[in-house]
Amino acid sequence: MVEAWHRPTEAIIDLSAIKENIKLEKGLLKKPQQLFAVVKANAYGHGLIPVAFAAQAAGADGFCVAVIDEGLALRRAGITKPILILGVNPAATAPLLAANSLAVAVDSLEFLKQAAVSLHAQQLRLAVHLALDTGMSRIGFKTTDDLAAAVDFLRTHTKEFDFQGIFTHFATADAAEADYYQQQLKKFKQLLTVVDPLPTYVHVANSAASLWHQACGGNMVRFGVSMYGLNPSGHVRKLPAAFKPALSLVSELAAVREIQTGESVGYGKTYTAQQTEWIGTVPLGYADGWLRRMQGSKVLINGHSCEIVGRVCMDQIMVRLPQRLPVGTKVTLIGKDGQQQITAQQVADYAQTIHYEILCGISERVPRKYLD
Ligand SMILES: *Cc1c(COP(=O)(O)O)cnc(C)c1O
Repeated sequence: MVEAWHRPTEAIIDLSAIKENIKLEKGLLKKPQQLFAVVKANAYGHGLIPVAFAAQAAGADGFCVAVIDEGLALRRAGITKPILILGVNPAATAPLLAANSLAVAVDSLEFLKQAAVSLHAQQLRLAVHLALDTGMSRIGFKTTDDLAAAVDFLRTHTKEFDFQGIFTHFATADAAEADYYQQQLKKFKQLLTVVDPLPTYVHVANSAASLWHQACGGNMVRFGVSMYGLNPSGHVRKLPAAFKPALSLVSELAAVREIQTGESVGYGKTYTAQQTEWIGTVPLGYADGWLRRMQGSKVLINGHSCEIVGRVCMDQIMVRLPQRLPVGTKVTLIGKDGQQQITAQQVADYAQTIHYEILCGISERVPRKYLD
């Protein structure tokens, strides 16, 4: 998709906030724990490559991404630290992964058997992290028998495979109650009894587990959303106050008009003025990730909280202004304007979703501008 530089709508990413958040997290880790920065989904909308280099500068020991192409993009950009692909992939991708030093999550013996053939033929060695399903029912080995068979295969195929890691993922590390988390941790430990010796990386923690379940252990954390300064639990648990959000979303008034009592705004004329009003048009819409359901929510203009009136269009929204304001006046959709602030959490609350979805939904058409 086209990055649209010639428009005032932009996501401003404060890389120093990302660096500070990583340093803060590193300070919280138990000493021999490494930090892998999770930069999947265009670094949660913040921009894969600039964020990866900022994370590296702040001391990230490696990276996690969701899909192979994200890993390839990091390699192409010159990242040489370990990269783990968190998703499972067809065995046919093994040579591509190995040739680019991308480690991959594996959850079946079948993958290993098939991959071994092509890896052997091409004299390539693939780094593997065995995924364990302890309660997400997403990916991973579930039984000690299946796991033991995979470990055995890896031990007898060391030319083709580097058995580099083993991991699981918690379903409820961000929740108030910890029962299910405890069950998953117990299951993980049970499964590990058939893995001796353990591989280099044993990892279980996402942001939530690393913040609120430090006893979960492991020697690496997969640090995602809190690196961007956000609370993985939403409102449920407290994020240490020093974590700072890194992303702002801003635009400018592109047009301003007066409408009279009875005139309506936008598709479906869902809003009709009850008096004479000033309406500002902002060049951002659902194609930029500003969801249609944001109708009725507020943006900040000149320190005023202004309502989005009428439906969100694909490329534009209309807001009710407190008075006539000049074209070019700054509009803040996420971030601070003077004393006021709109957080990604507030946007998510309004849209009845989580901030993760709001941020990775900011589309490629929105240019990212970096502050450092
Ligand atoms: C996305 C992801 C993470 C990061 O989660 P956060 O909540 O953003 O910290 C960690 N582990 C896995 C397996 C993931 O898919």
